[in-house]
Amino acid sequence: MARLKDKVAIITGAAAGMGEQHARLFVKEGAKVVLTDVQADKGQALAEELGHNALFIQHDVTDESGWRQVVAKTEAHFGPIDVLVNNAGISPVLSIERASLADYMKVVKINQVSVFLGMKAVIPSMKKTKAGSIINISSMNGLVGGAIGYTDTKFAVRGMTKAAAKELGHYGIRVNSVHPGVINTPMVQKSAALDQIKTMVANVPLKRMADPKEVSRLVLFLASDDASYSTGAEFIIDGGVTA
Ligand code: NAD
Repeated sequence: MARLKDKVAIITGAAAGMGEQHARLFVKEGAKVVLTDVQADKGQALAEELGHNALFIQHDVTDESGWRQVVAKTEAHFGPIDVLVNNAGISPVLSIERASLADYMKVVKINQVSVFLGMKAVIPSMKKTKAGSIINISSMNGLVGGAIGYTDTKFAVRGMTKAAAKELGHYGIRVNSVHPGVINTPMVQKSAALDQIKTMVANVPLKRMADPKEVSRLVLFLASDDASYSTGAEFIIDGGVTA
């Protein structure tokens, strides 16, 4: 199968977790993929493993000038951008009572401002081909409450997705949000709230966490032309937890 044949994609946070699995599946499905992450060693090694259709660029998603460089390097290496997966994120377990403004703004910048910067950065490239698919990774906590900071930013990603979909539809650019439940990645494995997560998983209707590859298949659908009439929509993949 080559559902992304010759499509050029940028995936943020692609050195580990879900981003890594998205990159693996996208390359397998014929895409040319730029992987970005702050973790240079892992990202570089993964891109080398994936071969000539993968390129790693070290980038912190909060860095606006860095976004311009990522877009320029992607276009120079592979051509105009068809797909952006805004995947990078963090999930500190904050409390309103104890978190400082600096703690709070760190989550806002990485989870929310980065999505604004990423969408803004790729629009000129997508306009060249009058097509594009932007996939913003929110969370089930973009639909129902979790910890402060994480919940707020994931709700924001859901809202930004809808606003951007309305604004960019006439360019042929689709924008959708993905809302994963509990996915077995380093984010969960290293979480300070692992005990609470285990309790939550016991109450998931499907009675398990997801493998990150299960989310990759949904992201692949949204990136591909199979999703040609889906925009401004929220795609829930949570084993039924928000049902
Ligand atoms: P992860 O922690 O396993 O991997 C995230 C990757 O993002 C890492 O490689 C990390 O280095 C990178 N990253 C972090 N900050 C960055 C920055 N400032 N700039 C660039 N890269 C950065 O996380 P994951 O579980 O794969 O999560 C991916 C996305 O899915 C996140 O947006 C997360 O909020 C969301 N999500 C995860 C779950 C889950 O259960 N794992 C559930 C819902 C939503």
